[in-house]
Formats: sequence, structure tokens, C-alpha cells
Amino acid sequence: MKQIGKVRIRNMPALRPRCPVDAHGFMEWRPSSRQTPEQLFCGVWYDCTQCKSSVLFPSPGLKAQLADMRKGGAHQPSRKRPRQKVTRQLRRADG
Ligand SMILES: [Zn+2]
Repeated sequence: MKQIGKVRIRNMPALRPRCPVDAHGFMEWRPSSRQTPEQLFCGVWYDCTQCKSSVLFPSPGLKAQLADMRKGGAHQPSRKRPRQKVTRQLRRADG
């Protein structure tokens, strides 16, 4: 049998994260009313109530933006490479 557990969950991660400080236990989901628009865009946040550590589960929107940046949208303008002249070498043995 196939188990597809994560498909159902769209906004919430499957597991509640724990604070890096073991004794603090599980972290609290941050309600959207306590988030800035930027934080809401970034994804789902969890906070430790005791030491204010935070964990972010990135949203699809943020992931897409990051992937775009890695591809060089902002910082590497030269993505185009000349792709010609390959066919010339293939014809070497003609005749
Ligand atoms: Zn903590």
C-alpha cells in the first residue's frame, strides 16, 4: 500500500518543530494576526515561547522566489551562451 501522507497538508507542516533547547519542547504556531505581510508571504512560522527561537517553513511563493534568485535573475545577468557552430564539426568526415 502506498502512503501519501503529506499531500493533504497544504499550509501546515506535518510535524510541529521542537525548540533547539531540548527542555523547551514543542514550538508554538504563530497566528497570522501576529504576522507582518512579509512574514505571511514567507510561510508558516513557529516560535518558542521561552527563548523566542523561530522556525520558518517556507511557502511555495518564497521557494519560487529563492529559486529564481539562484538561477541568476538578479545577480547574474549573463545566462545566454552562444549555441552555434556545433554542426560544423559533425560534418568533418563527409566524402
Ligand atoms: Zn526555546
